[in-house]
Amino acid sequence: MKKIIDEFMDLVKSRNTNEPEFLQAVQEVADAVIPYIVDHDIYFGKNILLRMVEPERVLMFRVSWVDDAGEIHVNRGFRIQMNSAIGPYKGGLRFHKSVNLSILKFLAFEQVFKNALTTLPMGGAKGGSDFDPKGKSDDEIMRFCHAFMSELFRHIGPNKDIPAGDIGVGAREIGFLFGKYKKLRNEFTGVITGKGLTWGGSLIRPEATGYGTVYFAENMLKTQNKSFEGKTVCVSGSGNVAQFATEKAIQLGAKVVTLSDSSGTLFDPDGIDAAKLAFVMELKNEKRGRISEYLEEYPRASFQKGKRPWAVACDIAMPCATQNELDGEDAKQLLKNGCICVSEGANMPSTPEAIHEFHKAKILFAPGKASNAGGVATSGLEMTQNSLRFHWSRIEVDEKLQEIMADIHEVCVQYGTDKDGYVDYVKGANIAGFVKVADAMLAQGVV
Ligand code: NDP
Repeated sequence: MKKIIDEFMDLVKSRNTNEPEFLQAVQEVADAVIPYIVDHDIYFGKNILLRMVEPERVLMFRVSWVDDAGEIHVNRGFRIQMNSAIGPYKGGLRFHKSVNLSILKFLAFEQVFKNALTTLPMGGAKGGSDFDPKGKSDDEIMRFCHAFMSELFRHIGPNKDIPAGDIGVGAREIGFLFGKYKKLRNEFTGVITGKGLTWGGSLIRPEATGYGTVYFAENMLKTQNKSFEGKTVCVSGSGNVAQFATEKAIQLGAKVVTLSDSSGTLFDPDGIDAAKLAFVMELKNEKRGRISEYLEEYPRASFQKGKRPWAVACDIAMPCATQNELDGEDAKQLLKNGCICVSEGANMPSTPEAIHEFHKAKILFAPGKASNAGGVATSGLEMTQNSLRFHWSRIEVDEKLQEIMADIHEVCVQYGTDKDGYVDYVKGANIAGFVKVADAMLAQGVV
């Protein structure tokens, strides 16, 4: 088996040199899915995985914009339209200085499997730019978003490709992107998700990724008759996903003791309660400050510059910042401190070495493509509401989100349970996602 996987990966590597994140994401899927393909005649010999790793389309374009001082800047814009076998392309936009083809291809590839797991009819895509929103004025952000959309608009549409937010793209950016699309197309459609509530957005969409990550962990814990009640939780990041993962964990009776950003880790031994979280939300979303400023309001907390949260003792870890933010050493430290459950809010935050450690210790470990699928699932619900010109209530959307996360958990258990009863959620998520997309590709022929 190893030889078949290695030969496959050699071919993928030869075509995608200098794309480490993409190759990391493909390797994980190949390890889980190739043995399944070999065992199942309907998929064997059809080169389905080889077709899946090749994007249907890669768009790369110049984005020129003018800053407040009148200086002209040039950034690079991308959209990776990875797979449309089960529905129109769907996936977020990331604005971060680290963005490149490898990162967006890994995200688009993950998105294909994630979207399939939601059971909603959405293909996979991802896009963004190496634009760095930090320190930019609102006007500069608007001009950049408008410049970005002035090219992207010709490649997307409500039945073609529906972007959303990701790192650096929140409510403010979605508004500017949607406004420009509407102006250029002269039509009001559900072309982007994460919209404001008064102009087509869905209740619970901002909360959905973080809440979903907690709901998924809740389902995992339930298999061992455990819950969030009384547990200590470490969360990384302090953006959209981290904030709402924290909110839901607190609501379920847990004590969240960390948050972080790229400058370091905040540790609050008393726990971040609802009032403190409201302070964080205002700090990060309105004032666009740094998480270290928490100390000015709550001096009993401490800030560890340049450190990640994983040395802090916890029962449950939720990495919600970015890819490869939790490595093998971090995993060993978490395990040493008694961590029993890791639910990924970010995409691919755990390195392969970290996942190996979690599996070896047989703790509950959920890969982001399963545990953070609540965001895109609720985007799918936003699309449905836009098509129906209708609004579900907060309770209705939350119930649907909980049902979807429970269903994703169930299908992971179905495909991921090892002979000894341990659930390998990585294997389960990859095979379940693969089966759905592969069946559609087989039905549609070689296109
Ligand atoms: P935000 O931009 O709202 O927040 C990102 C957070 O992560 C910030 O606290 C940021 O800190 C931190 N961060 C970003 N890059 C790094 C880095 N290189 N090192 C350390 N910290 C970093 O993004 P989201 O919360 O929306 O996204 C977080 C993760 O969740 C991403 O992996 C994203 O792909 C994933 N995700 C998001 C979904 C969504 O609905 N938003 C859906 C599914 C997955 P700083 O301010 O210092 O940069």
